[in-house]
Amino acid sequence: MSQPALQPGDTIGILGSGQLGRMIAMAAARLGLKTHIYCPDPGPAFDVCATFTLAAYEDEKALAAFADSVGVVSYEFENVPAPTAAFLAARRPVRPGARALAITQDRWDEKTFLNGLGIPTAPFARVDNVASLEAALETLGRPAVLKTRRFGYDGKGQAIIRAGDDAGAAFRSLGEQPCVLEGFVSFAREISVVGARGVDGSFAAFDVCENEHEHHILSRTIVPAQVSETTAAAAIETTGKIAAALDYVGVITVEMFLVEENGSDRIVINEIAPRVHNSGHWTIDGAATSQFEQHVRAICGWPLGSPRRHGRIEMGNLIGAQADAWPELLREPGVALHLYGKHEARAGRKMGHWTRVLPEG
Ligand code: AMP
Repeated sequence: MSQPALQPGDTIGILGSGQLGRMIAMAAARLGLKTHIYCPDPGPAFDVCATFTLAAYEDEKALAAFADSVGVVSYEFENVPAPTAAFLAARRPVRPGARALAITQDRWDEKTFLNGLGIPTAPFARVDNVASLEAALETLGRPAVLKTRRFGYDGKGQAIIRAGDDAGAAFRSLGEQPCVLEGFVSFAREISVVGARGVDGSFAAFDVCENEHEHHILSRTIVPAQVSETTAAAAIETTGKIAAALDYVGVITVEMFLVEENGSDRIVINEIAPRVHNSGHWTIDGAATSQFEQHVRAICGWPLGSPRRHGRIEMGNLIGAQADAWPELLREPGVALHLYGKHEARAGRKMGHWTRVLPEG
């Protein structure tokens, strides 16, 4: 559904109440926009929005009232139920749209879509039972990574199967759900591109991020990534190609593996996130336009901002008890501290992040 661009004073609707929704709401407020957050669970975005609705994603009465109160609907996580997205899309533009959501919700569909565009992924096979898993292991070899097709994040819903491991036990540990088996990628680095596509088809991307994970959770991002100019350009071009093929509106993130072979490198796509991304948090302090503002601009039908970087970037996540270091971080000159206002620092929970913008060179 197309409609005129939103105006300052209008309201954007966001599904999901986590830190990503919170930072979108804060960027929207800076541009004179109001935010209405919809979520079945209270979260840190509720503290900074003009309105919130605490209701189930199946509650059509609440969804209809939400749609009536906003000019556009977006979301901070990719697992929005398809019927919810369809219900809202009949009433207001949902950006990014239903196709982006459907493809990125399913690892099989996503990899098939990417390969269809000629974009490389890890070799993969569909797994529906132990027999198809055994067959896939024959083809792809070990180690291999078994992932649930749906609802995986931060390493949840996946298991590495090494030589000698019991494949059936791995399949059962993931709840015997439909899965994909991926060949193991011996990557030199993990990188991501955070880009944005406007309603008019314009595309802009931030410089390529290099990401380090601990226990499958992002721990640190540096920008620019230590990759050649050719590889960086290819990574950004690939992201633009994916966004165009999805007729995408909003911020899109593409996570990639960098494989080094015989002195040259190539990129292999790991996954697409149809949303703002943790590896783009540095843009709040380190770029002319933050990823959150960029997302707001895109979904409102406004021109994209400049993704220009202000310096060399280091960004670190504060996971669980790491957030207890906030007083020291506040004292450190040049550190920008972001705390998400979560009350309980459970292990593995993203409580905040910090960014350093350093002189180039
Ligand atoms: P994902 O949930 O798909 O983003 O995977 C989480 C992390 O697991 C990635 O960031 C990688 O560090 C690792 N990983 C995932 N898939 C593979 C693969 N096919 N080969 C090697 N490592 C992988």
